[in-house]
Amino acid sequence: MDKNGFFGNWGGAYIPEVLYQTFQELKEEYARCRKDPAFWQEYLELMSTYSCRPTPLTYAENLTKHFGGAKIYIKREDLNHTGAHKANNVMGQGLLVKRMGKKRVIAETGAGQHGMATATMAAKFGLECTIYMGEEDVMRQRPNVFWMEKLGATVITVKDGSRTLKDAINEAFRDWVTNVENTHYVFGTACGPAPFPEMVSWFQSVIGMEAAEQILKYHGRMPEKVYACVGGGSNAMGIFKRFLDETDVELIGVEAGGHGADSGAHAIRLSSPDATPGVAQGYKTMFLQNDDGQMNLTHSVAAGLDYVGVSPILSDLWEKKQVRFESATDDEVIQALDLTMKQEGIIPALESAHAFAGAFREVGQLSPDNAIIINQSGRGDKDIFTIAHAYADPSWKEFIISRAKEYSK
Ligand SMILES: *Cc1c(COP(=O)(O)O)cnc(C)c1O
Repeated sequence: MDKNGFFGNWGGAYIPEVLYQTFQELKEEYARCRKDPAFWQEYLELMSTYSCRPTPLTYAENLTKHFGGAKIYIKREDLNHTGAHKANNVMGQGLLVKRMGKKRVIAETGAGQHGMATATMAAKFGLECTIYMGEEDVMRQRPNVFWMEKLGATVITVKDGSRTLKDAINEAFRDWVTNVENTHYVFGTACGPAPFPEMVSWFQSVIGMEAAEQILKYHGRMPEKVYACVGGGSNAMGIFKRFLDETDVELIGVEAGGHGADSGAHAIRLSSPDATPGVAQGYKTMFLQNDDGQMNLTHSVAAGLDYVGVSPILSDLWEKKQVRFESATDDEVIQALDLTMKQEGIIPALESAHAFAGAFREVGQLSPDNAIIINQSGRGDKDIFTIAHAYADPSWKEFIISRAKEYSK
């Protein structure tokens, strides 16, 4: 990152004047934490006692046999507290907030997963917490709203614009501008104005550090390939960062292909020609936008990948060809999920299943002496509403209808 927050042509910090001082403070505190080995130690201690770090690296023996190619290893971020890698980021920012002496956190959330993680962190650290969520998302993700409120957060329904994530982000920025004195905005992924992309990637980099150590222990050397799904890009940056200097390791980011690259209903920013460079939400990256710079509607079966922008760090690595980008369609993702459940007894989140689908396409072409790592960013059993719906399971539908009847009596 250069001094203006750019990674090559991408990133920066396009922020309103009133936030300048706050960003200055945040950058300084972050720089102090990075230099202080005690901070990282405190972070690891917290994550090993409150979450499940180090998370295991699982050898997927049955999937390996099934494809007859490279050995498949799965990095188990699903075993984190709250069920995904998001815990790494929010707990890290929680420690930072404590150091800055702020008493209130806000966050935006689309699918509700980041809101859940932030509400959890706020409960643990005794912080006041407000979560912004589009009205459309509140309706779709009721179970997450329920838990956020039970964890003590205030959930504010945003009724502007398309009533989804981008409107929630705008509203969160408005709140921040008004309450900068006591409030920190917990950004959910490796996007947004600097220093968020780099800071979030740094907290997530624990994934790759552990994975490198674990693969050396089990396999004796570095893997040939590392796969991760790409929404905003935080779990991908988390596992990729450690391997960026290992020139023999190929890094593959898998984006949400939705109904297909030609359908217009997808969230492919880097592996299709649909996205163009732009500045929005405080940073410059490849956005899915129209000619007037208005954001397009995206689609994915996985709510966490359904986003118009992407980490500026990944745009830079894409441009420099240090990461290869692919996409997987909703249908391929359900197939990969199905196979992984039946072969390994592991239920990946729909987001993570994109990385599995990308890997399954290629792993058979590698030799049995080779190894690959798939980052399982989260667990799928908590997504039962979405997954059962994606499977179009008739008995599930009956269950929902009969419950609704029961409740409305
Ligand atoms: C939120 C989420 C993602 C997408 O976010 P990234 O910042 O791209 O990692 C991926 N997987 C799971 C399980 C998530 O909850």
